[in-house]
Amino acid sequence: MKKIEFFRHCIDERDIERVNRVLRSIFLTTGEEVEEFEKKFSGHIGLSSTVGLTSCTAALHLSLIALGIGTGDEVITTPMSFCATANAILHAGAKPVFTDVEEETGNLNAELIEAAINDKTRAIIPVHLYGQMCDMKKIRELADKYNLKIIEDAAHAIEASRDGIRVGGISDTVCFSFYATKNITSGEGGAVSTDNINLAETFRMLRLHGIDKGASERYTKHYRHWDMPLPGWKYNMDNIQAALLIGQLERIEGLWRKRNVLWGLYEEELRDLKGIRTLKTLPNVKHARHLFTILTPSGKRDLLLWALQNRGIGIAVNYRPIHLLKYYRDTFGYKEGDFPVAEEIGKRTISLPLYPSLAKEELMYVVRALRDEMHN
Ligand SMILES: *Cc1c(COP(=O)(O)O)cnc(C)c1O
Repeated sequence: MKKIEFFRHCIDERDIERVNRVLRSIFLTTGEEVEEFEKKFSGHIGLSSTVGLTSCTAALHLSLIALGIGTGDEVITTPMSFCATANAILHAGAKPVFTDVEEETGNLNAELIEAAINDKTRAIIPVHLYGQMCDMKKIRELADKYNLKIIEDAAHAIEASRDGIRVGGISDTVCFSFYATKNITSGEGGAVSTDNINLAETFRMLRLHGIDKGASERYTKHYRHWDMPLPGWKYNMDNIQAALLIGQLERIEGLWRKRNVLWGLYEEELRDLKGIRTLKTLPNVKHARHLFTILTPSGKRDLLLWALQNRGIGIAVNYRPIHLLKYYRDTFGYKEGDFPVAEEIGKRTISLPLYPSLAKEELMYVVRALRDEMHN
């Protein structure tokens, strides 16, 4: 049977050679490679500072902590995301408050946010779903009106922009993931970027227990006693992860172009397939083309899911909404019907294979399988 992987990373021989150099050196943890990656990544995003971390979850968590958000506070976010987004709010001790999404894009519906704002609300975490940015201008207006912080979850959207605004362009912090299936990856990894230099300094401390001198400083300079001004975590990116990422970052535009072509092909091939809907790419958007999702007819998703897998096709479901996960139901009393648009997407969505090395023949195999199964 044919096997079409859901995802394949794009690590090449040069990346492996770079990791080799780190492995043959004495210094494996946070040091020069991390610094180089952070500098290049900041340049790519167009912000002054990037701090390399172990995950996007860590980036979201530290953003909330550094912005002073915690117990008794509420943070508004989308139910249509990976649970990490809302879990980070729990880690900070605050309460996640969900608002529903747009039917066309699956992104947080900016029109619905205002009704959820009260005097405990401190921040909004928009998630740029599948690689398309939320309406950041509207979200910025709301944040200004109610004095809220904005922390972007750009786990899908390193390459994205909208209305001429890049990810991180008009927010307080922007969080990235280099998890195994993301556009560029180090297996596990993440980063937070910001234009606020003081905030970046706080992130550097918080990622390493809140101490004021990292191992690299202790190694390259003479030992000096360190202090711990803040209670921090163990979230620092290491040189091995950074070495894997530097080359991928240099190739990121070319990798995007390949996914963009495949995306266009999927859209063209599926346009006339009755019963299948795709989400919309809005005008003035550079879509990061992270996840290609289809909406199946109601009640048919799980059947299709199994049928495609039986034909050797790797798939994923992004996402069943967070508010209906057991912990969120039990703890906050969320229930079916609370966010109908997110629930509808959650019941109907399937993500298809999409990555630069996906061959056109493989994509066509997926399309034919989908056509066959829809006609059954
Ligand atoms: C992958 C993902 C995360 C979590 O990223 P980690 O690096 O695994 O912590 C957060 N938000 C979204 C939308 C994601 O897809």
